[in-house]
Amino acid sequence: MQTDVLIIGCGIAGATAAIRLAADKQRSITIVTRADTPIDSNSRYAQGGIVTRGIDDSAELLIEDILQAGAGLSFPPAVQVLAHEAPALLHDFLIEQVGVNFDLDEAGELIYGLEAAHSRRRILHVGDGTGHAIMKGLLDQIAIHPNITLLTSHTVVDLITFPHNALDPLTVYEPVTCHGAYVYDQERKRVEPILAKETILASGGLGQIYQNTTNPPGARGDGLAMAYRAGARVINEEYIQFHPTALALPGVTKFLISEAIRGEGGVLLTPAGNSFMKHYSPEWGDLAPRDVVARAIYWEMLEHNYPYVLLDIASYKSANFIQQRFPQIYAHCLNHNIDITRQPIPVVPAAHYFCGGVLVNLWGQTTIPGLYAIGEVSCSGVHGSNRLASTSLLEGMVWGARAASCIRNQPPGSPMPENSIPPWDDSGLIYQADPTLIYGDMQTIRNLMWHYVGLVRSEYRLNRAIKELRHLWLDIEEFYRKTLLTDGLIGLRNSVQAALIVAQAARRNRISIGCHYREDSHHHEPTARPPEEQQVRLSGDLD
Ligand SMILES: Cc1cc2nc3c(=O)[nH]c(=O)nc-3n(C[C@H](O)[C@H](O)[C@H](O)COP(=O)(O)OP(=O)(O)OC[C@H]3O[C@@H](n4cnc5c(N)ncnc54)[C@H](O)[C@@H]3O)c2cc1C
Repeated sequence: MQTDVLIIGCGIAGATAAIRLAADKQRSITIVTRADTPIDSNSRYAQGGIVTRGIDDSAELLIEDILQAGAGLSFPPAVQVLAHEAPALLHDFLIEQVGVNFDLDEAGELIYGLEAAHSRRRILHVGDGTGHAIMKGLLDQIAIHPNITLLTSHTVVDLITFPHNALDPLTVYEPVTCHGAYVYDQERKRVEPILAKETILASGGLGQIYQNTTNPPGARGDGLAMAYRAGARVINEEYIQFHPTALALPGVTKFLISEAIRGEGGVLLTPAGNSFMKHYSPEWGDLAPRDVVARAIYWEMLEHNYPYVLLDIASYKSANFIQQRFPQIYAHCLNHNIDITRQPIPVVPAAHYFCGGVLVNLWGQTTIPGLYAIGEVSCSGVHGSNRLASTSLLEGMVWGARAASCIRNQPPGSPMPENSIPPWDDSGLIYQADPTLIYGDMQTIRNLMWHYVGLVRSEYRLNRAIKELRHLWLDIEEFYRKTLLTDGLIGLRNSVQAALIVAQAARRNRISIGCHYREDSHHHEPTARPPEEQQVRLSGDLD
């Protein structure tokens, strides 16, 4: 199959790029997603909202907030692009073209929400189902563009890069270039190459490599692992943002309890009912940056042996307000017998967002010509060592649009002849992919990452993790080379690769900064308190 632009992933980043490219009717665009329903992505689950410019706000104020949350590691030109371009794009594209109906007040004016570490109210939302509303609008737009082909249940196995996949041996003397991807069709159970003049990686994050995560099953680091194997430069891989508040019930998947609850006045309490965030962040209290709040909860749980802490909104807002502002969270908790209009919510931290990724420039170009990366899989530098709340949907949209403009402004590349790459060879595959083995290995990876490469890291824990992960990586690669493909096997191979990349970066970086915290670092941030005893009791013990 040949296409002008191949887009891997159909979240906010991939969908935005596709719609912006499709305005050029001569161009063929193919989106592939491993999900069987196209809406299934991290984007669909976004609750709190998307940043715009508030009433008493400016680009400069947003830049200041992002730089402060990023703890000195954000790339200022990227932050400036985001802060200056995003409000107009959000209005013209998401509101006017895509038709997202953000919440309005009684006078018909946009309601601006507040979240942690934002100095202004500037977050647009659709109840607590913002991601779902945005994705529904984007998918409706994709459906009306005849030059976009959307392939669901198609999992990308690897990028097609030269010289790695070239039949002509002389390409070894040329720079590495990308020409599409090998794609596994889950229904027909076969791999086909899709050759493309330009390839955009928009495959999202990797929360699923952690035992406790807010991310859905598809976020397993596929894009990071593929780009790494192809030789693209990846950076800032140690910066995994842990969300402070995921629902903590034994045996229940970690459902995100949005930061917007604290933005609307919710307060964190110990199980005995005492608030504690002022001790850790006198300036911000309950609205401190995520890493500070997540570690504060960690220390509280560790020191006092709490299985969780509580988040109380019931004492501060009316039942009516809570039900209207947080309908999904209210319904989800009620399903588990917690009425958040009357009682506090048990919460623990969980892996949430990947701040690092495939290095890109201001137009989404990676270090491999022909390969772009946008959204959570990429690292534009906006988030530095920690992400400011509600900026990732925005970054996906802005870099999706930018990558599309960059491609549209370049002369079209020439199509790659089909016979320039080898066909997929599955002749030597002797095993069926054993789901028990895949599940067991995934659990091992997730367990190792949670306990040894989690919220609080040390050289000893990281060494242990890397040793075990290397061993697993070797076994899984060997198994992969002899086994008929499944989506689960592709995910396992990528997850172990992504886990190793994160663990090795965490070991290299001995300085605690942003969401990377080393208890053996000599540079502790003032708000982080080392535990008195080294007993490991993390929220993972709940499951
Ligand atoms: C519970 C939750 C709440 C959040 N709330 C907010 C919020 O309020 N505001 C905010 O700004 N951010 C929020 N975030 C973060 C934000 O949702 C994500 O960072 C963002 O949506 C990522 O978008 P994306 O397009 O890069 O990737 P995604 O939306 O994750 O899309 C990735 C796509 O890639 C596909 N894919 C992956 N691997 C493969 C493969 N091998 N082959 C083919 N396809 C593949 C997936 O199927 C999917 O279509 C939240 C995240 C979560 C999990």
